[in-house]
Amino acid sequence: MTYLDANATTPVLPAVLEAMLPWLTQRYANASAGHAGGRQARRAVEAARSQVAELIGARSDEVIFTSGATEGIASVLLFAQAEWPDRPLLVISAVEHAAVLEGAARWEQRGGRVKRIPVDAQGRLNLDAFKHALEPGRTALVSMIWGNNETGVVSPMAEVAEAAHAAGALVHADAVQMAGKLPVDVRQVPVDYLSLSGHKMYAPKGCGVLWVSHQAPFRPLLVGGGQESGRRSGTENVPGIVALGRAALESQAWLQQDGPMQMAALRDAFEDQLLTQLPGSVIHGREALRLPNTTSVSLPGVDAAGMLILLDQRGIACSGGSACHTAALHPSPVLEAMGCSAGEAACTLRFSLSRLNSREEVLAAADTVLQAARHLAEQKNLSVI
Ligand code: PLP
Repeated sequence: MTYLDANATTPVLPAVLEAMLPWLTQRYANASAGHAGGRQARRAVEAARSQVAELIGARSDEVIFTSGATEGIASVLLFAQAEWPDRPLLVISAVEHAAVLEGAARWEQRGGRVKRIPVDAQGRLNLDAFKHALEPGRTALVSMIWGNNETGVVSPMAEVAEAAHAAGALVHADAVQMAGKLPVDVRQVPVDYLSLSGHKMYAPKGCGVLWVSHQAPFRPLLVGGGQESGRRSGTENVPGIVALGRAALESQAWLQQDGPMQMAALRDAFEDQLLTQLPGSVIHGREALRLPNTTSVSLPGVDAAGMLILLDQRGIACSGGSACHTAALHPSPVLEAMGCSAGEAACTLRFSLSRLNSREEVLAAADTVLQAARHLAEQKNLSVI
């Protein structure tokens, strides 16, 4: 199988697996236990906390381990709304992940207001509309996707944070797709809260991070045993946390070794092959700043649902629209927000590379996509070449 669905989940890196394995086998103590095994697990958790902090330019005491980004996002949204009843407004973009979109719908159900800021045809946030939407003193929170999971388009987070702060609002960055693909540094982009997910950055599923600036207020969603300095109760997932720490270390090395540039070059070669061989193909967000691994492409006259089946049969794993919705093939809200017609959206596939893909397999996959597209088009008596 050629796996081109890294935005849905990444493979676990061999080094990450190796680091976590002992914590699933002989080192199973509870990190809160006072005996030697517990103290050893505690040290491992704290080492991982420093590794994650390092990746995002944070203090390690600001890092809270969670079960994943959905938990981090829910924690921030629920906290912000409860904390500032006199600031009813939540501002988000129109292209958020479902975790934020659904969280925002709940915000409204609880009596709050939500403004969803439009993007242009390239998926870029309308900054003027964003600034205009902020109501000084009435906006509790801005929650913004940093790197889009469907198109890879990157949000202007520094400008978002600056404008939001000027209006007295706090800022949550959904950095799930950014982390490990492009640099994330909370000293340079001073947001207040930031969510990460282990399984999007080469660690396993079921572990994540909520980063809370030491200057930002926070009260926990999960209470109980007082783990994570009272900010997230529940027995720590030591193997997952160790894996996340190691994955952060690997990410940092990859970022420093020109990983993003090389990955973007491969992604561009993949896209060029599609664009030249299938005239009329459209890469969503191609003119915008994008994550180096993501291609969202509309292939003219080629039904994505059929393509997904055909590509699956031919050993290529990719997705149509957001992976979290693959079972339901209605047009993705992200493409809709970019002004895509339903027809164009129905012809859109998302390919997302991982660090483990070789150049050969990616370019061979482009060939397979072309063949499959021609095959489908022929079946429909359409000429696409
Ligand atoms: N935010 C974005 C941008 C995502 O892509 C995802 C997962 O697809 C999430 C949030 C949710 O992350 P998790 O699976 O860790 O709950």
